[in-house]
Amino acid sequence: KKLVVGLTGGIGSGKSTVANLFVSRGIDLIDADKIARDVVQPGMPATNAIAEHFGTAVLEENGQLNRPVLRQIVFSDDKAKAWLDALLHPIIRQTMHSAINKAKSAYCMVDVPLLTENKMQSQFDRILVVDCPAELQLQRAMSRDGSSEDTIKRIIASQASREARLGIADDIIENTSTLDALVPKVDALHNKYLTLVSQE
Ligand code: ATP
Repeated sequence: KKLVVGLTGGIGSGKSTVANLFVSRGIDLIDADKIARDVVQPGMPATNAIAEHFGTAVLEENGQLNRPVLRQIVFSDDKAKAWLDALLHPIIRQTMHSAINKAKSAYCMVDVPLLTENKMQSQFDRILVVDCPAELQLQRAMSRDGSSEDTIKRIIASQASREARLGIADDIIENTSTLDALVPKVDALHNKYLTLVSQE
């Protein structure tokens, strides 16, 4: 059985930046957000089930999910949200596990922005949290996305708290300094994970 590291962190914390450093060390990275998008592509079983349940108004003419419409439905209806989660979460989990099984590197990493929120701890052998204060998240996300301060603040408030994320962490990368400062931190963890693998 291979070692599977779940990588998470709040918006703008530096998850993708850290993930890329592991990739450049040869580690296979699985992108949970991409899987979540892929399983609702036109014609996919989940897409068809959603259209059957909520009506074809949730589809665009080309068969793509109409996300604003779907978001509006689940935003105002907890039962609808629960139904959608019950449909999608097992499918996303299965797809994630088949990607994990195909991974070839000594260990693999899964980038899951909402790992804490979606209570996915049990899916991983270790949780790596990229952490920084909210002020830095705000600065980085604003300059990357060109979004307003309000928008980013609202997203930060909607995500798990820093404490909740750190509470489930096995490993933490403090991303409060320069990009260069991440390199030795990633190297140290990479070596730690390789050691764990060799001990299994
Ligand atoms: P999201 O969840 O929003 O996708 P993320 O956690 O993946 O965010 P990144 O995209 O890695 O975060 O980083 C956010 C932005 O901040 C990027 O533009 C990145 O280049 C920059 N950044 C990350 N870490 C640092 C750092 N230590 N110093 C300067 N800029 C950084």
